[in-house]
Order: sequence, then structure tokens, then C-alpha cells
Amino acid sequence: MKKISLIILIFFLANLSYTIQAQYINQNTTDSLFNDRGEVYFTFPVHKLYDIHTLTKVISIDNVKGHQVFAYANKLEFSEFLKFKTDFTILPHPGTLLQESSLIPVPGNHQPINRIIWDFYPSYQQYLDYMVGFAAAYHDICKLDTIGTSIQGRLILAVKISDYAEMPEAEPQFLYTSSIHGDETTGYVLMLHLIDYLLSNYNTNPTVTNLINSTEIFINPLANPDGTYHGGNASVYGATRYNANNIDINRNFPDPKVGQHPDGNQWQVETEAWMNYAENNHFTMSANFHGGAEVFNYPWDTWSKLAADDDWWQFVGREWADTVHQNAPAGYFTDMENGVTNGYAWYEINGGRQDYMNYWHNCREVTVEISNIKLLPTNQLINFWNYNYTSLLNYIRQVHYGFSGVVTDTVNDAPLAAKVFIQSHDFDNSEVYTRSLSGFYARPVFEGVYDVSFSSPGYFTKTIRNVSVSKWATTILDVQLRPLTYDAQDKVTSTTMVFPNPSDGHFRLVLPDKPINPSCSVQIINTVGSIVYSSVIDYFHGMIQVDLDISHLQNGLYFLKFNSGYRIYLDKLIISR
Ligand SMILES: [Zn+2]
Repeated sequence: MKKISLIILIFFLANLSYTIQAQYINQNTTDSLFNDRGEVYFTFPVHKLYDIHTLTKVISIDNVKGHQVFAYANKLEFSEFLKFKTDFTILPHPGTLLQESSLIPVPGNHQPINRIIWDFYPSYQQYLDYMVGFAAAYHDICKLDTIGTSIQGRLILAVKISDYAEMPEAEPQFLYTSSIHGDETTGYVLMLHLIDYLLSNYNTNPTVTNLINSTEIFINPLANPDGTYHGGNASVYGATRYNANNIDINRNFPDPKVGQHPDGNQWQVETEAWMNYAENNHFTMSANFHGGAEVFNYPWDTWSKLAADDDWWQFVGREWADTVHQNAPAGYFTDMENGVTNGYAWYEINGGRQDYMNYWHNCREVTVEISNIKLLPTNQLINFWNYNYTSLLNYIRQVHYGFSGVVTDTVNDAPLAAKVFIQSHDFDNSEVYTRSLSGFYARPVFEGVYDVSFSSPGYFTKTIRNVSVSKWATTILDVQLRPLTYDAQDKVTSTTMVFPNPSDGHFRLVLPDKPINPSCSVQIINTVGSIVYSSVIDYFHGMIQVDLDISHLQNGLYFLKFNSGYRIYLDKLIISR
């Protein structure tokens, strides 16, 4: 009998909320809150916006409804919170609100790719199998990428979907990512569904076909696998917000206002993996999916200053929400301004990935809160797909609108790494840059007339006046820049043709898209003018890239001389380990 009451008590504590008055809290109460997992979910009233500003640096605020704050904390954060002497209510953890049995995939869910009905949460192994399976079944248009490995060794994966998925092309890169908060799982399944939808509709659905042919679409369904599978790899039951170190990854990024470590923690391995991934790619737009609210939350989160593209953000936000409203029952996706909000106007956060991507990677990333219920019952997953998939496609399409084009060298047409800056408009890093491989850039922007400057080191800056942009339309703006010094006699010019640069000594040389002799030569010259490496490249038609291994050379600056037989190209290389 006693045992039964104990079980009932534990069940009671685990599944019902209970209020604790600040004066009665002691170490034992605090310890008991962290028995099952390294984080608690709780709520308390707050009366001044100033308190949010202070509290957001102490705990991980999840939602603010009127004067009520909903938040998570690990043990350390919680002990700091207790110093505020505020009464609070411990809430049942969102990752445990459904029956565990309802979350374990059943044999009927085990269908081959193409026949999966996305009305369940896969096990971790199934997830891996699907990601590998997509790339195998559609290898021409789908490539599997590993972003990194979590603390507990789970894989952080993405697929790249594009025609010629293996090749970098003159196309904008677009990113969707979900569940950086591991217990916000609706977007996880929606992203798998989206991958399946895009791949299986290629060459049959014109919208999908156009998007895949013109865009490099990256989709990462699960950004925090240790959080999502905290309860074990069999199911998402017991999912946590935080990673395996009990740290909120979405408060762990460098912050434009607060600095490199806004939460006081070192960058987590998941954070570093993302930072590297962002560095190695060139995302023009992205969205990250969360749960616990229903709203399109656009930059900035960290400060009240509006984004340079605030009008564009409101426009794409309204498009998302209004489209959802046409496809969902009344009441869905209506938080804040009928489904759209400026991040700071809702509540301030520091260290979020959204602001990091916008500020440091010139990427337009938004936070989309997709379901009020974090752990959505499985029978709702198809409904939420139906509410959102048109908006998912519309938002990808926006990466093509505004103006876009390629920036090249007037002399040899080589693609250039260039800055594309809208005069009297861009600030806080809202400008965009070309991809140095192709010279391609895309600049989504609200309708209007703009003066746009193109600049690149070693070239004269060129400003194009009165560039006119309409809604849902693309203005093509290809630009050529003239080198500051150009010696026509020698036909010597400089171009960006090597990447990554700096590197550890392994470079990839991008051959110019020009007539080239069957054999052309590469020389590496050190800073005192000695040739330290030379080789002949057997060029064959269609080959555009050559790998160059000079990792035996010391760290430092070198000059690359590439003789195509028609022209000599010079570039600088830096070896840095
Ligand atoms: Zn979240």
C-alpha cells in the first residue's frame, strides 16, 4: 500500500504542476526537481519588462503570455533564479506529456521511402536510415551532409536538395532546420515530410521542380538529437530542451549585443558544428522551427533596433501567416500580431541562432514557432503539415525575389568575391556577398528602388542606380568590375579561384570557364620569389576543379601562378594550421 502511494506521489509530481512559494524552497526541494533530467520547466508572473531583460540572462525563457513567463532552467540557472525570491509553479515537462507507448513507432510505420506516411516520430535509427535512404534513392538531386556530432555521439545531419546536388552552382543556398530545442518536435517530422515531398514531386510538380532546379535547399530536421532522444533512441518520449550538458544551444551562439559567450558557457560542440557549417556554406535565407507557440518571429531578438529589412520581414511574415490561415482551422498560428512578431517585441533573448546567422553570416534567418503543443500527438502531424507546407514552399521561393546576379571581372570574366551593398539602406550586416566560386549573389529585399554598390578588393567599386524591385519578382543584375591594375601586355590578372583559403595545405583550384590548353601548369611561389611547387594539370573537357595538395609546405603566404596557355592567373594562398 505504501509503495502504491509512493508511486502515485511520484506520478503526481511528474505529471501535474505544483506551486512553490519562494520562502519555502530549500536545497532538498531544489535537488528533487532535477532527479529525472537536468532541466525544469516552470512559470511565474513578471510585472516589468525590465525583469525580462534581466531574467533572460539567467534562465531560458520559452514564452511570455501577458505577464506570465514560461521558462526552463538547469540546476545552476535555477539557483540563480531563486535569488529573485519569486513564487513559481513547476510544470510537467513537455517531453513527458504523452503516453510513452503512443510515441514508439509501430511496425506499420516501417515503410520504404516514398510510401512513408509522416504521422509518427521515428526512432533515432529510423531517422538515420531515412536520411541515408533519401540520398540513396534520389542521388542525382539529394546529397547527405554531416554537420557534426553531438556530445553523446549522435549525428547532426542535413540533406542538400538541388539539381546536380554534388556540385556548387550559381544558385542561392537556402536552409531549413528544426528542433534545436530537443522537445519541440513538430518541425522534426515536418522537415522529414518536406524532404520526402520535394524529392518525390521532382519532375512532376512544376513548383517543386523549379525550386529544386534553381535553389540549393538544405534541410536539417534535427539540430539537437541528444535533447530529442534524451529518453532513449527508441522514441522521442522524455525529450529535453537542452543538450546533453544541460545547456540551451539556442542561447549559446555569439550575440551581436552581448558578445561571444552570452550565456557564460563555452560554445557547445553542437554550436561549433553549426558555426562551421554556416562558415562553409553561404546561406541567403533560412528558418529554424520551434514549438510552444505559433508565430513567425523575425529579427532581432537581442535588441529593440529594427532590422534594415524590417519591411521585407513583415511582408514575408504576413505571407507565411496569411497562407497558413487559409489552410488551417481558425485560431491556429495567431500569437502576437495574428501570427507575426518582431522578436524583441515579444521577449528579448541573447545568444539565439537567428541573430547569429543574421549578424555574422548575412543570412535572413527567422524563428518559426509552429505548434503551441511542443510534443504534438502523432495523429496531429499530418494536419500540421497540411497547414504549413504551402508556406514552407513560399518561403523558399522568396530567396529568388528581390535582385540577384553574378559579379565578374571585366577582363577575364572570372567570378569575383564581392560585397553587394544597398546605399542608404543596409546596416547591421544586412548586405550580401557573392559566392566566390560562381560570383553569384541573391538579395531578397522589399519592393522599391535602390542604389546598389558592388565592391571587391583590387577592383573599382561600381554603383548601379535606380534598381527597381517588385514583389514576387526577380530583377537580374549582373555586374562586371574592372581591376585597379591590369597589364594587358602580359595578360596577367588576379582572380579568386582557390578555396578554402586559408587552408591546411589542401586547396581546390577552380579552373576558369575559358579555353584552356590540354595541359596547363600550376606553380606555387613563396614570398621571396622561389618556386616551391609546380605541376602540370591534365585538363580534360568538363573538368572544372583540381585538388592541390601542398600540405608539406610551411604555414605562410604563397603565390599561385596558373597558366592556362592563354592567360596567366595569379592568386594568393595562405597555409594556416
Ligand atoms: Zn524553442
